[in-house]
Amino acid sequence: MRKCQFQNCEEEIWNKSEDDYCIFHDPQEHKKNSEKFQKLIDEKIEKNDYDFHKYVFPENLDFSEIIFKKYVDFGGAEFTGNVDFSESVFEESCSFYLARFYGESNFENVEFKNKVHFQWTAFSLCSNFKKAIFRKEVFFEGARFLSPVDFEKVKFETNVEFEGCIFEKANFSEGEFKGDTLFRDAVFSKKTFFFDSQFKSDVNFEFAVFHNEAKFEKSYFEEKANFQNANFDTVNFDDAYFEIGRFHEADLRNASFSYTVFDKAYLSGAKFEIDTKEGKNRIKNNLRSPGVEKIRLRRKEQQFCKFKNALQEEGFYDKAGDFYYFEKLVNRAIMFKETVILRKIRV
Ligand SMILES: [Zn+2]
Repeated sequence: MRKCQFQNCEEEIWNKSEDDYCIFHDPQEHKKNSEKFQKLIDEKIEKNDYDFHKYVFPENLDFSEIIFKKYVDFGGAEFTGNVDFSESVFEESCSFYLARFYGESNFENVEFKNKVHFQWTAFSLCSNFKKAIFRKEVFFEGARFLSPVDFEKVKFETNVEFEGCIFEKANFSEGEFKGDTLFRDAVFSKKTFFFDSQFKSDVNFEFAVFHNEAKFEKSYFEEKANFQNANFDTVNFDDAYFEIGRFHEADLRNASFSYTVFDKAYLSGAKFEIDTKEGKNRIKNNLRSPGVEKIRLRRKEQQFCKFKNALQEEGFYDKAGDFYYFEKLVNRAIMFKETVILRKIRV
């Protein structure tokens, strides 16, 4: 039997493969029959074989209501159609590191009992994490949500990292964040909802950029809330509660704080401005403090460089090329003082 050319893969070469891959690793997903493929996957799951590393899945795969009993590896996998993980339970840790969801993904009511890795994962269409429960650490560092994502009523029982994520419309309303929460350097391109969210430990939104409305009404920040250098288009903190709110250098020119309760607040260098037409236009034009903007862009440049290297190491040369391009784009922005360039990044 001739084996698939993918490293360490023991599967037989698929008769339709042009490049000596097995049916799982062959990149030509349009040649794969979804029904047959699903059968092969079901057989693997039956045997508790959860190695799906860099698999290329055809359309509409069903992983719902499954109890995964061991470590699950979807690292670098490509889901070319919709995929359903709803109601599934991951007993051990699992990885979606660098995976790509081209269709809609459904993680509603999923329970992750151990660590989960979604670093640099890309979600092209809508993703649904409603009522998902994450019992251990979650890593979404550098993930890109290129369509709306819904985390309504999500439960993060310990630390969660969304550092440097790119969001379109994002809904975290009524979410529970029990551990340290990191949204540093995240970019929120469309409306963002943290309505009635509970942050029970430290939360960090340093250098985060909200290009559209951010709604934090009734949110409850029980420990330190760090919004230093954050940049808001409009933000609403009405009825929110802050134990310790840090807003040094934050752009709060269009922030609403009606009935907000601050036990302690630090606001040195924060920008407040009267709600004038001119003020609004200036925010729209993204005229930020040049010093802060430069730091922000430098941080982005470093981050893209980091992504590029990670992708290269994993052998995703095309995708690494995208990040090399972003890195150069940001570099150009720094050189020529272009401030709105990050809005253009959408791959
Ligand atoms: Zn293979």
